[in-house]
Amino acid sequence: VTRAAENALLLLALCAGGYFAWQRLKPAATPAQPSVQVASPPATLAPLDAPDVSPPSPAAPASLPPLEEAPGIPESDIHTARTLARRVNQREPLFAADLRIAEDLFVRYPGEPRLRDLLEATLVTLASQERTNRRFPEAAAQLRRAIEIHPDSLTARKGLVVVLLDAGDWSAAESAARTALTAQPRDPELLEGLAYALFRQDRNREALEAFRAVLAVADSPSAREHVARLEKNARDEGGMTEQRLSHFHVRYDGEEHTEVGREILRALERHYATLSRALDHQPSEAIAVILFSREAYYSASGAPRWSGGVFDHTDGRIRIPIGGLTRSLTPDIDNVVVHELTHAFVHDRSRGAAPREVHEGLAQWMEGKRLDSSYDPRELAALVEGRASGVGAFYALALAFVEHLQALRGQGGINDLLRLMGETGDADSAFREVYGDDFRSSQQRFFERLRQKYPS
Ligand SMILES: [Zn+2]
Repeated sequence: VTRAAENALLLLALCAGGYFAWQRLKPAATPAQPSVQVASPPATLAPLDAPDVSPPSPAAPASLPPLEEAPGIPESDIHTARTLARRVNQREPLFAADLRIAEDLFVRYPGEPRLRDLLEATLVTLASQERTNRRFPEAAAQLRRAIEIHPDSLTARKGLVVVLLDAGDWSAAESAARTALTAQPRDPELLEGLAYALFRQDRNREALEAFRAVLAVADSPSAREHVARLEKNARDEGGMTEQRLSHFHVRYDGEEHTEVGREILRALERHYATLSRALDHQPSEAIAVILFSREAYYSASGAPRWSGGVFDHTDGRIRIPIGGLTRSLTPDIDNVVVHELTHAFVHDRSRGAAPREVHEGLAQWMEGKRLDSSYDPRELAALVEGRASGVGAFYALALAFVEHLQALRGQGGINDLLRLMGETGDADSAFREVYGDDFRSSQQRFFERLRQKYPS
């Protein structure tokens, strides 16, 4: 999409309320689970819905039976165990001291299975608390200890798969699911965890088989949705050539697009190196990039007509239309590659918690766009006065917002922001820590500054 078309839209779209337009454009979904696709700059406005697909959730620990008496265990220890068991059963918050008590009882009475169960339930409860606080490595460590003391129990094994999926560690989740499935080959939750881990590793044929295996043993709406989605992907990508490299899996029509495919690979590698340095981060998994002819792109990606490419946060894939290209890349396509790749980096770094304004602003910033050189003063005045609205205004304001953040703390501040979002899952606390204000107040402050800079 050319800048001229975008700017024309910005000028033509007349709507009241500058700050309100900004607010209205904010995504309604929570930052942790944005319900929108993030796409390249616009020419017209269209709905932005992506299927909301999440990994399975973990099971709560089973209720512990009452520990009334046990031969060889003094009443005081039974009392301690009973008190802890009651708190576990009532889902009260537990602390490190509780874990020490449970470990101590387990070590002193190794032959008492109820104390082993108590320790396991304590570990699973603590892991669930850590998971809520997005402390995934701590949660995984507690679940691994629970598996160690009680290898036959499935609760901790299922919990571990879920925590590793939450952490985005797809290959570790796959291996944890496979280990647990050796004991319970028909467990639908484990099968679905395995299927999701394969899907996110872009191992689509195996993922499809695993989702079908879920449906063979139980009904699961999310497994059904994934089967439909993977079957559609297989149709859309049927006959494509695939190149698997360390950072990318690139698929394209081999007959028609051999040379342009090779060019895009080179561009991807070059921009990957630049973005790794700028954002001080490398995505842990290879990124799937699928190149389509223009019409096939719209039906395959479900992306809006104005988009020049799309990164889908629900499957981590980039889809780009390259219709009409034969040999070399146009500057437009090169910009689309940088833009969508930035989304993939930001999504990975922030673990999906980055607000759309940060996504789109940073993606344009990395393309080299700047407010002053991309828009003329009349357009900027329209933006500040709220006479511009719609997708064009949203992208312009997102770029302006990121320029504002760059002026405050530079790229280092933005990298801290993304890292903190990934660690806490909370955009507001990350904004407070880096810029002193939560997300909304940061936006308000930004808009006041913009008004001062471009007075009407
Ligand atoms: Zn975008």
